[in-house]
Amino acid sequence: MKEVHINIHNIRNCVCGECVSFPGKWRELSHADMPGLFCAHGKSKLEIEEKGCICGSCMVQQEHELSGMYYCSRGIGES
Ligand code: SF4
Ligand code: SF4
Repeated sequence: MKEVHINIHNIRNCVCGECVSFPGKWRELSHADMPGLFCAHGKSKLEIEEKGCICGSCMVQQEHELSGMYYCSRGIGES
């Protein structure tokens, strides 16, 4: 497991924006510096309803040998 850094490569590869649990880009931006990439910057400040997680299909997950889910609602290391 490698630490995920906030960089353009990882931001582009994050698929959170296509996920049913994602609260929405603009809602997320009103509470955080960036939407998505929760495996790097930790959980969302918003209340997330867990309706499914597609982190398993994400290149960031594969490239960093992660195995977690729901980083948006559970944070890093708690999923
Ligand atoms: S593993 Fe999940 S939170 Fe991390 S970049 Fe991919 S989709 Fe986003
Ligand atoms: S961390 Fe998982 S559940 Fe949350 S928005 Fe990203 S893909 Fe969806």
